[in-house]
Amino acid sequence: MPETTPRRLPRPLSARGWSVRTRVLSTVVLFMTMGLAVTGVLTYAAQFRVLEERLQSELEQELSELELIAKDTDEEGEYQHESVDEVLRAATTSAVPSDNETVLALIDGEPAYKPFQQDFELVGEGVPGSAEMLAEIERLHVPGRTVTTTVQHEGRDLRMLIASVRVAGDDAAGIFVVAADANPPQAELWRSVATFTVMSLLALLVAAVLAYLVTGRMLRPLESLREATEQITVDDLERRVPVPEGRDDIAALARNFNRMLARIQAGFVEQRRFMSDVGHELRTPLTIVRGTLETTDPGDPADVREAHEIAIDELDRMGRVVGDLSELAASSRPDFVRPRRTDLGDAVRSAFSRLPHIGEREWVLERTAEGTVLLDQQRLTQALVQLAANAVRYSEPGTRIAVIADRVAGPAGPELHVAVRDQGIGIAAADQERIFERFTRVEGAPGSGSGLGLPIVRAIAEGHDGEVRVESTLGEGSTFTLVLPWRTPADGDTGDESAVSEGPTERPGGSSR
Ligand code: ADP
Repeated sequence: MPETTPRRLPRPLSARGWSVRTRVLSTVVLFMTMGLAVTGVLTYAAQFRVLEERLQSELEQELSELELIAKDTDEEGEYQHESVDEVLRAATTSAVPSDNETVLALIDGEPAYKPFQQDFELVGEGVPGSAEMLAEIERLHVPGRTVTTTVQHEGRDLRMLIASVRVAGDDAAGIFVVAADANPPQAELWRSVATFTVMSLLALLVAAVLAYLVTGRMLRPLESLREATEQITVDDLERRVPVPEGRDDIAALARNFNRMLARIQAGFVEQRRFMSDVGHELRTPLTIVRGTLETTDPGDPADVREAHEIAIDELDRMGRVVGDLSELAASSRPDFVRPRRTDLGDAVRSAFSRLPHIGEREWVLERTAEGTVLLDQQRLTQALVQLAANAVRYSEPGTRIAVIADRVAGPAGPELHVAVRDQGIGIAAADQERIFERFTRVEGAPGSGSGLGLPIVRAIAEGHDGEVRVESTLGEGSTFTLVLPWRTPADGDTGDESAVSEGPTERPGGSSR
C-alpha cells in the first residue's frame, strides 16, 4: 500500500472562533440576564399597577366618606347636613388624608374648607400655582358628576377626583376635590428598581466569574487533550494523551482516544512489517533469477534449459506469493467471507472429493456432522484444500490424511470442528503459534511454500468468527482444526445456496498445491 498518509496534520485544530468556555459563559450570562430582566419587568410592572390601584382606591375612599356624611340622618330620618356648606365642612374637617394626599372643598368656585392636617395643599395663600390649580379644577369639574383624572402640577403627578356636591334646596355649587401625589411612592418604587438592578448586575457578575472558573476547571482536561492531540503526528504515534482522574466523559474520551491511537499505531507497525516482508519475499526469487541468468552461458543449450527451468520455477513462486498476498489483503474486506445457508455434510463431502488430487495419500473422510448451517462453502473448501496441501507437503506418500467434521458443545454454544489430521513430520511446540504468522516457515521443514497458507486459513476462520487450532507432535503428525460457531439459518433466512460456487477454489497464482 503506497504511503500516502500526510506526515503532519494539515493545521493544528486549535480553538477557532468561540471556545467552549466562552460559549458556556456567554450562555450562562445571557440566560441569567434574560431571567433577571423578565423577573424585574414583570415584578415592577405589577407593582406600578398596584400603586395606581391603591391611589385610585384612596381617592374613592374619601369620596365614599363624603357620601356617607351627605346621607347621614338622625333618629327621625332627617338629614344631618342640610346645605352644601354643611356637608363639605363636615366632610373636610373629619377627613384624615393619607400620606401625599390632599382634600379641598370649594363652594361656588371659592376654596371653602380643608382638613386640619395634610401633607400638602393645592390652593391657598402662599401655595405655589394656587390660581392655576383653581382654574384647572373649574375646568375639569363637570356639574353633577364625579371626575377622576391625572394632572401634572408644580412638579407633582396628581391623581385627582373632582366631585360635584349639590344638596336639594341649596343653590350653592360645591366641589369636593381629593388629590394624591403619585411621585413619592413612584420614586420609592424606582429606587427599589435601581436596587434590584444593581443586585442583579452583581449576581450576574458573580455568576459569570463562577461560571468562568468552573468551566475552566471542568474543561482543563479537554484543553490538555486538545493540546496533546495537536502534538501527535503520524511519526509520533507513541504519544498518549493524559487521562484525567475520575470516570467522567472526558476521561472516557481520553481513554478511547488512546485506544484509537494504539490501534492506529499497531496498524502502522503492521503495515511497515508487511511492506518489508513482501519486499524481502519478492527479492529472493528475483535475485535467484538474475543470478542464474548472469551465470548462464547463452551458447550452451543445456545451461539455457536449466536456467529456463529455474526462472519459470521462481516466477511461479513469485506468482504464488503475489496471489496469496492479494488473498490475504482481501481477507480484511468485510465481504471476504459470505456465509450462506449450506448443507454441511454435502459441503464437507464435496471439498473432500477434491483432496486426493493434491497428492498420493491414504485419504479418509472419517465422519461428518450433518445439518443446515450458515457458512461460506467456498471459503471452507479453500481452507480445507490449504490444510490438505500442507498435510501432503509435510508427510510421506502413502501415509494417512483424515478429515473429520464434528458438532461439538463449546463454552459459548455448539461449535463446528473441521479437522485435517496427517501423519507427517509434526511441528515443535515452540513453533505452533508462530506458523500462523505471515511468511513463517519452520526451519528445516521441506518445501518452499509462501508462508501465507496458514494466515489465509486463519483469516477464513476469523471471518466466520472462529479460530484455527493445531495439535502436533514432532515425528508423529499434526491435526489442524477449524473451530467455527455452529450457526443455523434463522427462520425466513433464505440464504442463497445456488450462489455458492461448486468449483474448487484455486488460490490466485495457482498455489493450490
Ligand atoms: P507454507 O506455504 O510454507 O506451507 P503455511 O503458512 O501454510 O506456509 O505454513 C507455515 C509453516 O507451518 C510451514 O512452513 C510448515 O513449517 C508448518 N506447517 C504447516 N502445516 C504443516 C503440517 N501439516 N505439518 C507440519 N508442518 C506444517
